[in-house]
Amino acid sequence: MIRERAYPVDPWHIRETRLDLDLLAQSESVFALANGHIGIRGNLDEGEPHGLPGTYLNSFYELRPLPYAEAGYGFPESGQTMVNVTNAKLMRLLVDDEPFDVRYGELRSHERVLDLRAGTLERTVEWVSPSGQAIRVRTVRLVSFTQRSVVAFLYEVEPLDGPSRLILQSELVANEQLPPMSKDPRVAAVLDHPLQSEEVLEQRTGGLLVHRTKASDLRMAAAMEHLVETPGKHAVTTEGHPDWLRTTVACKLEPGQKLRVVKLAAYGWSSHRSLPAVRDQVGAALASARLDGWEGLVEAQREYLDAFWDHSDVKVEGDPEVQQAVRFGLFHTLQAGARAEQRPIGSKGLSGPGYDGHTFWDAETFVLPALTYTQPSAAADVLRWRHSTLDLARERAQTLGLQGAAFPWRTIRGQECSAYWPAGTAGFHIGADIADAVRRYVQATGDYDFEREVGLELLVETARLWRSLGHHDRHGRFHIDGVTGPDEYTAVVDDNIYTNLLAQQNLLTAADAAKRHPDLARKLGVDDEETASWRDAAASVHIPYDKELGVHQQSEGFTRLQEWDFENTPPEAYPLLLNYPYFDLYRKQVVKQSDLVMAMYIRGDAFTPEEKARNFAYYDARTVRDSSLSACVQAVMAAEVGHLELAHDYLGEAALMDLHDLHQNSRDGLHIASLAGTWISLVAGLGGMRDFNGQLSFAPRLPSRINSLEFSLLWRGLRLRVAVTADEVTYSLRNGGGSARLVLQHHGKDVEVTQVKPVVVPIPPAGAVGPAPTQPAGRAPVRRATS
Ligand code: BGC
Repeated sequence: MIRERAYPVDPWHIRETRLDLDLLAQSESVFALANGHIGIRGNLDEGEPHGLPGTYLNSFYELRPLPYAEAGYGFPESGQTMVNVTNAKLMRLLVDDEPFDVRYGELRSHERVLDLRAGTLERTVEWVSPSGQAIRVRTVRLVSFTQRSVVAFLYEVEPLDGPSRLILQSELVANEQLPPMSKDPRVAAVLDHPLQSEEVLEQRTGGLLVHRTKASDLRMAAAMEHLVETPGKHAVTTEGHPDWLRTTVACKLEPGQKLRVVKLAAYGWSSHRSLPAVRDQVGAALASARLDGWEGLVEAQREYLDAFWDHSDVKVEGDPEVQQAVRFGLFHTLQAGARAEQRPIGSKGLSGPGYDGHTFWDAETFVLPALTYTQPSAAADVLRWRHSTLDLARERAQTLGLQGAAFPWRTIRGQECSAYWPAGTAGFHIGADIADAVRRYVQATGDYDFEREVGLELLVETARLWRSLGHHDRHGRFHIDGVTGPDEYTAVVDDNIYTNLLAQQNLLTAADAAKRHPDLARKLGVDDEETASWRDAAASVHIPYDKELGVHQQSEGFTRLQEWDFENTPPEAYPLLLNYPYFDLYRKQVVKQSDLVMAMYIRGDAFTPEEKARNFAYYDARTVRDSSLSACVQAVMAAEVGHLELAHDYLGEAALMDLHDLHQNSRDGLHIASLAGTWISLVAGLGGMRDFNGQLSFAPRLPSRINSLEFSLLWRGLRLRVAVTADEVTYSLRNGGGSARLVLQHHGKDVEVTQVKPVVVPIPPAGAVGPAPTQPAGRAPVRRATS
């Protein structure tokens, strides 16, 4: 794994002090701005050079055929790919007729700063044109959290040495040419000209383009408007064409004089609404942006983020890299979901085209835990979106001969889009992951209206799926056969423990919720017999165990499979999926990502401490972490079984996934699950936070290099702050009034926290810990204690 230190360590900023064209695509992902509805990659203002241009609208996709050499029954016929929509970032500058292009002339300085508190990306450049004219350019951009459809840009340019003639061309461009597709299956399909022009409107200082996709039949509009300030004479004109619209500002400036242009842009899309309706919608968004102006938008962005950090910030002392990374991770998690508003959260958020923009279990299992405890309304919205796709999931279950709802492994709109069923449709655990997210959200917020409106039906339909997918054997044991768990290097197996334990929880949560809302449950056709059958299946779920080795089997028979020859697997052969046939991976003991270890975290109540320690050691030695979803979970369980230094190492890996481009594919978009997973590693890992059966509990313990850790959680309207040092923990409540009280568990003992005064409790001495777990040859995480 590489260790690339592209960005200096700074607690609140990601700063790039020099432009490295080889890292351009990666930095475009790192510097991506989004609000969950609109996402823009951090492309240079002038568009070129670029790694991957990208502008995305959540759920705006095009259909494409999924060709199979050998098709089979129930294979999805069409895929969905997120579209690179009309680009509003482009602002090209000509300096005395010469294009400002960092590849030519002399680049004296180039700095980009992502400010995590301001929510802006700022760029400052000093450049000398090939004919010798020096200029300074400063640009700032934001995707507004407060005005969901608005993106704004500030462009300032001044000549430094002598008078200069400057032409700024600000554009909207549809159907940009994209670099060709790679062979990596995790990369997006490139769509050729996905947008068809429907309307062009040009006015003196801006205009609008309306387009429609060919097959998915979605309509989008993008509009722009410019506010120009400059001391001398200047001219502003706009011309429009079907696929581009250009506003040109021309002026002459003396040194010390500045051209300042504010570009406001607005986006809207719809699958149903008419052209005039979508056009008017973006017109209105633009009017609203104009009302606030640049300064107003910047101020509102800061206020929004101040509030977010006030209740979500995580402070880590002793490892500044992790401090920076956890804030970076939280910022991008927020960007992925903040204003998604009943749309999915993709595995890359809106930061790049990887995985075609699809959402996976990443959202419910990695992103939602962080959002549930920091930004609960965003978590609820994702589940509302799932609920809105229930009919499709029911249809899919029917096609598969099952009852209830079979949610897609990967999708944008709700239909299954995985063309590889062993790591797609067979990943049935997605249903239980959704149910787990419902359970967590309701438990953490006490939002029983949500449970009635959305939660219950999701729980019931997913429970029904398990009941029809599984079966009781002649001894009465309940098995779920032929499924794929989280570890995609072990597919179509019987009794995957993660799946079985999550299904068990799903069945019980559904039965409990049906009991709480009997009227609604009856409407959904649930009767006592059905809930009894769920409880019965849950009570007899089979959990495979290898008595001889004294460890659980990830799935039936796993521990008797041949061992993978890690010693003779060269470092360049990772990720294994790109270098070995799946059949070979499937029949050996090699684990792509936390699976049983994940089960021990989410269903930790189903294992004893001794089982956890033994299982962790066994599976850590066979887990290669070819998925970015693994390290954060390993951090959590390493901490629980007492290997705190190893937990710190895994935490570092999860945290630096994108800042250090550890999987060498951040160019295609950020690993949102790992970024949210950084929060999980700290809060559930070092903080030991769990929420089994509605009981909030903590077991904090710090590794040697981390001196203190502080985080906040929202729990049933209360804001709990947890501050951990090497020897003690302070729990305090920050709102809720004088009578607010919360009983939590601290290392297994009840602690009552009230608003009156913080509670300080010592951390009990650690018990005996077994030998340090080992990892497959060459796959140990980078040590943080010595780094
Ligand atoms: C992982 C999945 C994950 C997907 C998207 C795959 O490599 O194995 O668990 O959902 O990536 O992040």
